Amino acid sequence: MELSPRVRGIPPSTTLALDARARARRAAGRDVINMFVGEPDFEAPAAVQEAACAAVRGGEARYTPMAGTPELRAAIAAHLTRSRGVPFAPEHVVVCHSAKHALSGAVLALVSDGDEVLVPLPAWVSYAEQVRVAGGRPVLVPPRADFGPDLAALRAAVGPRTVGLLLNSPCNPTGHVLSDDDVAALVALAEERDLWILSDEVYHRLVYEGPPARSPVGLGEAARRRTAVVDGASKAFAMTGYRIGFLAGAPELVDAVARLHGQTTGCPNAVSQAAYAAALADEPPEVGRMVAAFAQRRAHLLAGLERLGLRGPPPRGAFYAFPDVSPWLDGRGVEAFCDELLEEHDLALVPGTAFGAPGHVRLSYALGLERLDEALERLATFLAGRRVDSAR
Ligand code: GLU
Repeated sequence: MELSPRVRGIPPSTTLALDARARARRAAGRDVINMFVGEPDFEAPAAVQEAACAAVRGGEARYTPMAGTPELRAAIAAHLTRSRGVPFAPEHVVVCHSAKHALSGAVLALVSDGDEVLVPLPAWVSYAEQVRVAGGRPVLVPPRADFGPDLAALRAAVGPRTVGLLLNSPCNPTGHVLSDDDVAALVALAEERDLWILSDEVYHRLVYEGPPARSPVGLGEAARRRTAVVDGASKAFAMTGYRIGFLAGAPELVDAVARLHGQTTGCPNAVSQAAYAAALADEPPEVGRMVAAFAQRRAHLLAGLERLGLRGPPPRGAFYAFPDVSPWLDGRGVEAFCDELLEEHDLALVPGTAFGAPGHVRLSYALGLERLDEALERLATFLAGRRVDSAR
């Protein structure tokens, strides 16, 4: 059976493939500390679980309208109006199977063969692949020294085929939150060069210091018209396995994505829609507790990394640290570094190559404090061994 060129070159999602590897090691009896995957280790809030069960028992587990139930679309519009500070209506929203699915739907709807899309680095593993699947070319633009977007480099990268800009704040893998000035400059660039903005805001709720993440939609009506927001239930409500998210933007884009998904995936999961609506109706108290726990772990992990001499961009949001390990790579690259760390110490970190930053590793701190301490100990032992190795 011959595969199409469209899928032949698609690599597995690095984060998901590594997570599967860590799980397999654990299933084989190893005490693996899995800092690979970006998945909250909390349970979904009680109200979410109850709404899901009620939907199953109450006969709501049937097809829904393609763009989502009216209740959920209204709940998302109200949530966006509150959290992004600009009015959204249900017709601006299409519910999707996840934020990832919303993103791929938007990319397929917006990218034509040969189009170029600017992707500021470091960037989550699937952006570039989704653009390629759509027939486009991701233009990967390295960051400034502080890991913010390099505006001059982005401007220089715009060519005649550039159609859009992919933003992610708070950022996976760095936790960087775009400053208001950077958001304004990026919107100005998009306006000047007539680019759409796809703004992945799935970590919007998870910011631990400073002002909240600013969405480009807040920068006036023109900015809002060229921006589509992606968000979902996975990170803010610990609902990864529910697979539910949305795209919010211009009604013609929302309609296009609903038609695309109508021909491919069908309507979003009815049970998860009911559960997500419950999460959004009134923020469950568990969310604030989860955010406080992440804030504590973040401080704990950053202090521990600092003691080991590992520094990286200060992560204001998300639940990742992204330290520079280049002094310890002894010429063999970060993938070998992470491989050895897993094989010898059962500590699972993602190599920065997956995100376009080969001197770094990503640590997810979706782990309790004791496991974080254990992870730091294993890392310290590993680094000490490597220093000796490289000095030989
Ligand atoms: N976004 C998460 C991560 O980066 C989940 C895995 C994925 O879908 O890539 O680990």
